[in-house]
Amino acid sequence: MPDLFVDLVAPNGTRYTQPTGLFINNEFIASSGQTITSLDPATDEPIATVHAASPEDVDRAVNAAKAALAHPSWKKLPATDRGQLMGRLADLMEQNRELFATIDAWDNGKPYHVALSEDLVEAIGTIRYYSGWADKTFGQTISTTPEKFAYTIRQPVGVVGQIIPWNYPLSMACWKLGPALACGNTVVLKPAEQTPLSALILGKLIKEAGFPPGVVNIVNGYGREAGAALAGHPLVNKIAFTGSTMTAREIMKLAAGTLKNITLETGGKSPLLVFPDADLEQAVKWSHFGIMSNQGQICTATSRIYVHHDIFQSFLSKFKEAVETTSKIGNQWDETTFQGPQVTRAQYDRILSYIESAKKDGVEVVTGGSAHTPSSAKNKNGYFIQPTVFTGSSDTHAIVREEVFGPVVVILPFASEDEAIQRANNTTYGLGAAVFTRDLERAHRVAAEIEAGMVWVNSSQDCDPRVPFGGVKQSGIGRELGEAGLEAYTQVKAVHVNMGNRL
Ligand code: ADP
Repeated sequence: MPDLFVDLVAPNGTRYTQPTGLFINNEFIASSGQTITSLDPATDEPIATVHAASPEDVDRAVNAAKAALAHPSWKKLPATDRGQLMGRLADLMEQNRELFATIDAWDNGKPYHVALSEDLVEAIGTIRYYSGWADKTFGQTISTTPEKFAYTIRQPVGVVGQIIPWNYPLSMACWKLGPALACGNTVVLKPAEQTPLSALILGKLIKEAGFPPGVVNIVNGYGREAGAALAGHPLVNKIAFTGSTMTAREIMKLAAGTLKNITLETGGKSPLLVFPDADLEQAVKWSHFGIMSNQGQICTATSRIYVHHDIFQSFLSKFKEAVETTSKIGNQWDETTFQGPQVTRAQYDRILSYIESAKKDGVEVVTGGSAHTPSSAKNKNGYFIQPTVFTGSSDTHAIVREEVFGPVVVILPFASEDEAIQRANNTTYGLGAAVFTRDLERAHRVAAEIEAGMVWVNSSQDCDPRVPFGGVKQSGIGRELGEAGLEAYTQVKAVHVNMGNRL
């Protein structure tokens, strides 16, 4: 079994001590035997081996969270103090920004400069935002009759199991922890097995910030084992999950056993519509970012682009130009890298198989269409893929219908607004959508008609801790972020009061 702490030197020269154990009751402890070895996606070489939880280990973590829920150090902690603890955590994260960005870049493959300027800002911003909500979630007083009234109290849901994906390892942890802690819950968080490292540093800072033992427990582990044990555990009151729609179905089944409260944020095949009056430069810039950033590994990626036929050819050639000039491929440490390697070989293979099958079926490749061969020998085994643009496909092809989760987009023409909306909505998903037009009426009319949890007008992928995030249809249940995110982590108790002595 690996030591509970290992000294590492990252490719950018950062030296640090990586905890590897399960974080339970504010201590790093050994698992009962399993491990996960994390690989650098740019080189395919191991970074570190961490402890992976068995169902028994998960049970230990859940029991720690259950005990912390009832412990006066958390249960009786004034909400303002709870917010202050979260503020302290945000400060500590701020002090460790470069370290977190290094770890997520190394573990996930995203460019370091992006992790630093985007992921870290979002992660810290989310904890800070929710620290402010801790003492501002009140109930209501409801007058009923002259003698009676009722009031409501917003109480924590209880022990929350949080299962997160690998595309934004630290940010996803913070999206989940922020509202859960603000509302006074206790947590068992399971990071994705592909990116187990940064969450353990977060655990260390949670202890340093002064959170009582057991309030946050972090257990790495495999989905089918540790994830499933958490989703089915009878003492877990709620499961919050972000990941694929297929896994969400499994989780719903497991959670059904004890009728757990659930929040699910799942897959997408988000449409982006470009109308003929759109600012073409803006539309190209944002639509490129909307699918090609984060290596295309974004659940809200605008991966289906529908462009009015009057401007289709010029949009297509400008998009191709944007890909060829902006999507520079490289390792995580090069300042000029726009697109790093995909997260794992499994994802790399999956994306390439989508590309191959589209090519085999005669879908036209505008640019890209294969694996990328890096110039540096050190990166020859990295999981690099060319940003790929398809056109000339029918809407029924897998490349238009299924989530590829990679730097792959399909651009297709449309003739009318009704047709664009109908095709945008012709999907089982409903996460994000974007509309490009300078016509105000059209922008809001289309935004209202599209079946999606979020719509961007003349933009793509804007995301802010203050704004609710989530999906409709098979893209999810419930909302994260914003005030709406608090609803997922509180339950309302109604107290009926009779003030009259005669009734
Ligand atoms: P991906 O296919 O992109 O890796 P998943 O939805 O499988 O996405 O994974 C997201 C998260 O769900 C990860 O933390 C993973 O370990 C977890 N997970 C996977 N399968 C299960 C399962 N059967 N039960 C609970 N959690 C799971």
